[in-house]
Amino acid sequence: MGQSTLVLIKPDGLKKSLTGNILTRLSETKLDIVAAKIVKVSRELAVEHYKHMSEKPFFAELIKYIMGDYHKRKVMALVYWGDDAIGKVRAICGETNPEEADSVSIRGAYGRITTKGVYENVIHASTNKEEAEREIKLWFSPDDIIVDLYPAKIAKKICEERVWA
Ligand code: UDP
Ligand code: MG
Repeated sequence: MGQSTLVLIKPDGLKKSLTGNILTRLSETKLDIVAAKIVKVSRELAVEHYKHMSEKPFFAELIKYIMGDYHKRKVMALVYWGDDAIGKVRAICGETNPEEADSVSIRGAYGRITTKGVYENVIHASTNKEEAEREIKLWFSPDDIIVDLYPAKIAKKICEERVWA
């Protein structure tokens, strides 16, 4: 059965011009990209994404890292879909700690540990189905994704929005 998973190319990946390399590595999985966008990460989004890490001593640094304080203020967010998507993507990413990650994995090849102790590991990938659903719903709206992954409903917009002048 198909699975979906959230991938983020983190600010260090974008700053180091690794987008092409990372997408090429991920294409080895033969999974489908069903959504993609460049995001300027707000503090609210960063904190919500990493809320399970909020007690960690490096949390403040992690938030700065994902918001792009040390690199570029952008992240590339993608949704991959297909058979065993979560496991396949995680396998190519490698271990969380770039020094422990297999050197042919994305994190092993391109990650580093900063002097402040944060693992700058260039990519995020969901670890299980529940996390994938929470993260995909956090980063994308139903209409950003070209397939129906989760139930959606029609809601009337009551807020103003920016349109082309
Ligand atoms: N992280 C870190 N030091 C640690 C553990 C995690 O800097 O000891 C950072 C790292 O960037 C990691 C992110 O926090 O990717 C989220 O941690 P998690 O345990 O969820 O690892 P992941 O799922 O990204 O492999
Ligand atoms: Mg994780």
